[in-house]
Amino acid sequence: MKEAKNLGELKKNGHPVLTVREEMRKNLVRYLETATRILPGIVGYDDTVIPDIENAILSGHHMVFLGERGQAKSRVIRGLVSLLDERIPIVQGCEISDNPCAPICRSCRRRLEKEGDALPVEWIGREQRYGEKLATPDVSIADLIGEIDPIKVAEGRYLADEETIHYGLIPRTNRGIFAINELPDLTEKVQVGLFNLMEEKDVQIKGYKIRLPLDVVIVASANPEDYTSRGRIITPLKDRFDVQIRTHYPRTIQDELLIMEQEAAPSSQRSKPVQVPQFMKEILGYMTFEARKSNEINQTSGVSVRVTINNYESIISNAEKRSLRLKEGEVVPRISDLHSVLASTGGKIEMEYVGEEKKEDELVEKLLNRAIVKVFDQYLSINSLQKVVDYFNSGWGVEVSDTMPSQDYLEGIKEIPGLKEAIGSLGTLESPALMASATEFVLEGLHLHQKLNKEVEGGRITYGK
Ligand SMILES: [Zn+2]
Repeated sequence: MKEAKNLGELKKNGHPVLTVREEMRKNLVRYLETATRILPGIVGYDDTVIPDIENAILSGHHMVFLGERGQAKSRVIRGLVSLLDERIPIVQGCEISDNPCAPICRSCRRRLEKEGDALPVEWIGREQRYGEKLATPDVSIADLIGEIDPIKVAEGRYLADEETIHYGLIPRTNRGIFAINELPDLTEKVQVGLFNLMEEKDVQIKGYKIRLPLDVVIVASANPEDYTSRGRIITPLKDRFDVQIRTHYPRTIQDELLIMEQEAAPSSQRSKPVQVPQFMKEILGYMTFEARKSNEINQTSGVSVRVTINNYESIISNAEKRSLRLKEGEVVPRISDLHSVLASTGGKIEMEYVGEEKKEDELVEKLLNRAIVKVFDQYLSINSLQKVVDYFNSGWGVEVSDTMPSQDYLEGIKEIPGLKEAIGSLGTLESPALMASATEFVLEGLHLHQKLNKEVEGGRITYGK
């Protein structure tokens, strides 16, 4: 159907103009009827968050998402835009995207009266109907709702009239979705303004009561501790959010790794082909899982999935440098590249006891070690590696580092009895770089099981008796 150019055509086409809630509900019903999953690309929420969102949309409820950092809250909220119609008609040029059939701003109402069915209509896409704001104590009523324009007041217009308002972010998202992230960080005054807007449809701006019957779905997010702690959110506003949807971290390593690979910078942007052995990925996933269990880390703010994602990027970058310097054909991260995660983890975790920076590095190392042991035990058993241990016990040592050519490891694999078989149980690892990575993993695992000694000097690591 051709898009109507004026109100008359719109009426003739019988295009129904729905409220945002009706529109989202209508589209969700269609998703459900065709068994199409909403919010594609959101991993790990199929049985928890997604059903809650569906119920909230079907009920027309206001939603607040509660979760620690890095649980894809913003991403979920932005994804709600996919439940809006692709395009909707608005009064041409209206700052607040007025519905041509029932405009609310005075200027559009006046135009409708004068122009009738000739009132020009334009169509906007759903991406234009989303707004968001990170709440901070600096955010004002003027930012979110609007401000009285002193020039217009001086021109002698009515004060309590929306034509004297310079619209803020929420009115500009009229007929769309507006997200407020970290809701408890809004000042009480702004929270009151927000409540009035949601509940009474009118707001006080500088003491003037202004009627503003907007049609906006307001979605908020917050850290659960901040949201529930007394006094951070005014009660009437809290009551206004009909449902609290609790987000969470991935429940399985598989989900954590799925998100990691989905969100990390694509390997195709690297200078050479990238191959990350499964055990290296799992080490990063388990490290984050360990961090989320650690009582040395403040769990109230949480440990974001971004830790895993950024660590993955860091080890690939460290391996990429080696591959470039040594002119190797592929990029394969090894255990000796793991030091690069110190920089990408730091700052994303909050230590429970404030100490020196060194403490943080020590903790990350401890978590890494726990993760390595966990992954090692899933692939290998110490008993099956007795031959390797015997070799070292007879006085031999092996040196590795993150700058050593992959080719240099092949010699050791040939020399050390049992090592080749051990590598074989880690999957199909055929290239020298993959075998080098596997060698380090086996040796480090033996060391962490107290079967081998490890000496670190500069960047060089020596395993021996
Ligand atoms: Zn208007």
